[in-house]
Amino acid sequence: MRDFAIGVDVGGTNLRVAAIDANGEILQRINLTTEVRAGRDAVLEEMVSAVEALRARHASGARLAGIGFGVPGLIYMKEGKLRESPNLPGWHDYPLRDMLEQKLGTRVFLENDANAAALGEKWMGHGREVDGLVMLTLGTGVGGGIVLDGRIWHGLLGMAGELGHITIQPDGPRCGCGNHGCLEALASATAIVRMANEAVAQSSSPALQAAAAGGRPITSAIVYSAAKQGDPAAREIFRVVGWALGIALADLVNAFNLPMYVLMGGVSAAWDLFAPPMLAEVERRSFVYRAGGTRIVVSKLGADAGLFGAAYLPLSAAC
Ligand SMILES: [Zn+2]
Repeated sequence: MRDFAIGVDVGGTNLRVAAIDANGEILQRINLTTEVRAGRDAVLEEMVSAVEALRARHASGARLAGIGFGVPGLIYMKEGKLRESPNLPGWHDYPLRDMLEQKLGTRVFLENDANAAALGEKWMGHGREVDGLVMLTLGTGVGGGIVLDGRIWHGLLGMAGELGHITIQPDGPRCGCGNHGCLEALASATAIVRMANEAVAQSSSPALQAAAAGGRPITSAIVYSAAKQGDPAAREIFRVVGWALGIALADLVNAFNLPMYVLMGGVSAAWDLFAPPMLAEVERRSFVYRAGGTRIVVSKLGADAGLFGAAYLPLSAAC
């Protein structure tokens, strides 16, 4: 009998659910918008009913290996508890895994969303060709995941791979984690918008000032198109993003000497602007990189990486 699993990628604004078989083929997917403000119980109900709909549809003739959830935030792996999640207020210390197992009556696997994305890329993305990789997810925040010998590296509590909080600039901008100058404070979409608003306040960017004068809030996509049109301040922002990523990657390459480092998330779409300064920085700072063989690439699966990783948790545990 064919095995399949259900993967759930819980985002701040999107809830993506898919039934995926052991060969990595998506049998069916459901995309929902997460009404996080509706509260924890409403989000849980939505997840459970989407999972049940997929299970009912695909369970005949196939064996459900389990259900995997990729969740933003810090997770105590042993207890299956969320310590905290910036995107999911009110889930603090919630015994998520036990509650889901109770409601669904089957085995549930919890994983940090960036770890799940790293695992998904390893299973069905560019990572198929290698044993280990590091993933950086560049979105509203910066997440990280480390896969060594095909498995996620969890560390003591399950919180390893918080690569968005590597210090890049000791006296840099304050980060949500309490530290200063984290990668996240310099290379996330939030950081891009912060730098753009600073440029507007300093009247150093005609293109961004024009955008701000239109009354719409500045987004990283607006900064990207301003940079593409040659606005110097907008171009400088992506140089800073590349510089910060280059320092982080140089350290990661020196630490792990893995064959592959993968970037995904909304900001990775600006690769053409930030990659040249990023690669120059890695080259300059890492003698391990200069020794050769390291690949730095954009995710093959993109937004689906986390979904594949979530489904792979029960599939890989079963075999
Ligand atoms: Zn931080």
